[in-house]
Amino acid sequence: MRVATCKCEECHYNKNFECHADSIEVMSVGDKKVSSSEGTCCSTFKTKR
Ligand code: SF4
Repeated sequence: MRVATCKCEECHYNKNFECHADSIEVMSVGDKKVSSSEGTCCSTFKTKR
């Protein structure tokens, strides 16, 4: 699986704006409408130590 670009530098899996997780899970959050990127979020996010 390849994520084109991820801007979350704070994520453990992020290296130079690339995702290095084997897979990711995306959940509906935010405005709950899931009609745009505003209503989705990567739940695989893990804080860097
Ligand atoms: S796990 Fe999610 S937040 Fe972390 S680098 Fe990959 S796409 Fe970005």
